[in-house]
Amino acid sequence: MKQKRFILSEKELPTRWYNIQAEMKNKPMALLHPGTKQPLKPEDLFPIFAEECSRQELNQTDAWIDIPEEVLDKYKSYRSTPLVRAYDLEKALGTPAHIYFKNESVNPLGSHKVNSALPQCYYCKQEGLTNVTTETGAGQWGAALAYAAKVFGLECAVYQVKISMQQKPYRSMIMRTFGATVEGSPSMSTRAGKSLITQDPSYSGSLGSAISEAIELATTTPGCKYTLGSVLSHVTLHQTIIGLEAEKQMEMAGEYPDVVIACFGGGSNFGGLAFPFMRHNLLEGKQTQFIAAEPESCPKLTRGEFRYDFGDESGYTPLLPMYTLGHNFHPANIHAGGLRYHGAGTIVSQLIKDKLMEGVDIPQTEAFKAAMLFAQTEGIIPAPESSHAIASAIREARKAKESGEEKVILFNLSGHGLIDMTAYDSYINGDLGDYQVSDDEIRRNLQDVPVV
Ligand SMILES: *Cc1c(COP(=O)(O)O)cnc(C)c1O
Repeated sequence: MKQKRFILSEKELPTRWYNIQAEMKNKPMALLHPGTKQPLKPEDLFPIFAEECSRQELNQTDAWIDIPEEVLDKYKSYRSTPLVRAYDLEKALGTPAHIYFKNESVNPLGSHKVNSALPQCYYCKQEGLTNVTTETGAGQWGAALAYAAKVFGLECAVYQVKISMQQKPYRSMIMRTFGATVEGSPSMSTRAGKSLITQDPSYSGSLGSAISEAIELATTTPGCKYTLGSVLSHVTLHQTIIGLEAEKQMEMAGEYPDVVIACFGGGSNFGGLAFPFMRHNLLEGKQTQFIAAEPESCPKLTRGEFRYDFGDESGYTPLLPMYTLGHNFHPANIHAGGLRYHGAGTIVSQLIKDKLMEGVDIPQTEAFKAAMLFAQTEGIIPAPESSHAIASAIREARKAKESGEEKVILFNLSGHGLIDMTAYDSYINGDLGDYQVSDDEIRRNLQDVPVV
């Protein structure tokens, strides 16, 4: 019998994160202050983010950053996550390809998000802060942060998009289980929220409104800072624990990936898995292919423009040089809530420009079809987000079948879908559709992007 599952012992866990910025030939362009349009220094970010996270965000010189002892200690309670060879999926597809997945769905709270929630809370605690705040859409990030805040003895306030809170009540229950305060956004507890409610009492919120409220709370409350679960470079840095483990585990399996795939919302699970492998392309001329799978309904990687744009709808964040659909882009209400984001982040955008990776678009129904096959062969119900990576992996496995290549495919299973069963129910009932975006809509939205 061949080995199916590869795990690292505590002693073998990586003790440093990998900062790809330091080894990129063309560095990501500078973040700009939203008011002055001048390049940002770490100090400019201190009022919003933990100081250490602010420094990591702009660090383009240190390739390796030590994981603090206290964070490593928490990682040890659930890492390494398994690397699994998907023999049964391969068999169902009749492909000569070898398909591996890194299973981040077995993490506390069921997704990769906790890998960054823990260090962000640790750095806040170390800085002497007492509170953290954030926004959340579907709730995976809010849930991970609520847990991490509890671990490090911080109070946690989460603004959850009001409509998501009503549609996905379980995740707010999870956040409350860890002692977090959860408010539907827009709320009456901030100026931004009050003004939105006054304008339109029936407004059911957006990520943009929730970010504005969380940033306002952080900047007006002593001892409180804002945290973010995706998009920014320090978040992806923390997620490289995924790829650094996978690198060792692939070695145990005696293979090296020809293709590395992950789904793409703001890029943290993609970068987390991909960057440690991409390092070998950058430094040693390896030819691994990197694919980021985005939803067809939110195609910033394949159809967005490279521009300076805001990270949020209200224009509170720094200006980020990135592929974007425009910060006012409203993606269709697909079930993969974590992939409904307008921009690609600065590192990935530079890598795409330099053709070191590529994006693919996956229609919603193709993602669910892939998820069903994966569930039925491997026994794990994937998150709707992760299903985009599975669909892309299946496309690659089918290509390998046509060409007869024994290609090695590695993808990230970023989370499980056990609290997304209404989405599966809709798919099984034939009620799910696909959403294409017209060129016109993209052009219209990009008109609102500031010219720098
Ligand atoms: C949040 C989330 C994503 C998307 O975020 P990235 O930063 O692009 O990784 C993907 N999958 C799951 C399960 C998530 O919770």
